Amino acid sequence: MGSGVKRIAILGSTGSIGQQALDVIRAFPTKFQVRGLAAGENIKLLEQQLEEFEPQLFYCSVEPDFSYQGKFMTMEEIASHDDVDLTVIATSGKAGLFPTIAALQAGKTVALANKEVLVMAGNIVTTEATQHDVQILPVDSEHSAIWQCLLGEESEPHRLFLTASGGPFYHHSQSQLDRVTVEQALRHPTWKMGKKVTIDSATLMNKGLEVIEAHHLFAIPVDRIEILVHPQSLVHSIIEFADGSMKAQLSFPDMHLPIQYALCYPERLPNPELPRLDLSRKEILSFEPVDYAQFPCLKLALDAARLGGTYPAALCAADEVAVEFFLQGKIRFTDIATIVSNALEQHQSIAQPSIEEIFAADEKTREMTLQIVHDISLC
Ligand code: MG
Repeated sequence: MGSGVKRIAILGSTGSIGQQALDVIRAFPTKFQVRGLAAGENIKLLEQQLEEFEPQLFYCSVEPDFSYQGKFMTMEEIASHDDVDLTVIATSGKAGLFPTIAALQAGKTVALANKEVLVMAGNIVTTEATQHDVQILPVDSEHSAIWQCLLGEESEPHRLFLTASGGPFYHHSQSQLDRVTVEQALRHPTWKMGKKVTIDSATLMNKGLEVIEAHHLFAIPVDRIEILVHPQSLVHSIIEFADGSMKAQLSFPDMHLPIQYALCYPERLPNPELPRLDLSRKEILSFEPVDYAQFPCLKLALDAARLGGTYPAALCAADEVAVEFFLQGKIRFTDIATIVSNALEQHQSIAQPSIEEIFAADEKTREMTLQIVHDISLC
């Protein structure tokens, strides 16, 4: 890194995590240089970001309607470019998979926010990281918490406890859940996030995906990862050691902090923009076991994790299709779990899949899920 300046590429720069990563970079202008930005279709915001940060490399998934001096490159090329030290993968869905692999193969540190990368292809991605001796730094708040708790420990954790806010509908009855509107589902009580992850947080599918992510990131069996409902979202996760000792990480629920930790690692830097927790005030920390019966998506995710193969990829694909239909107001909130469950029942898994087989499973499940949605809307 020579001068001590980290050269950063952000894939998914116009999304929620991407924009917050740029906030962090803005707060430390002498620490970072933005070398590449990649976006999807939000080219208006991308153009503003390019003007502000002046990276050499850029990408967008649609034809840009502006002119910019930099080089247009694919996300794989940006992620693995010689001028980049650290690549933030803040894309969504399967879009981050090939760029992550390209970055790891080129020896770039990866700050990973795109859950599906590890859920769909955890074995392949972690093997690439090991082979090229590079680190995958978690950006998700729960995984960042576990990572921070593990630092300095010689012993493996005995159990991980991922905390979950429970979303907006915790303790709702089945009939209340049936009537949930898109607007209600998009109103998360503690976190501000993109639409897809907000719906996944309401169904608790998100927590299931996070279990699979944690399993790969920390090489711990799925059955040693537990979920605790913690409505205040102040404890971001907990680890327990063999002697029964537990460590937790606490902070105000704001994604800027885990993003900053990954970008600045191993340094911890003061950032006046980040809200602080004052535990002397009145903070109540409560925990309760998760109700699997109320949130079938969580159980589906854990089943897919245990079955392995292409099941987790099929889970992601079916969920993405179902959530999109819910967001369009075409299916009920509770239909999401029914649809994903049907898709997984019909899925023919491949053990130890290649990337091509994972993508094929994704495609096939999407088609199958469209058919299931069609059938459901007829009855
Ligand atoms: Mg999370």
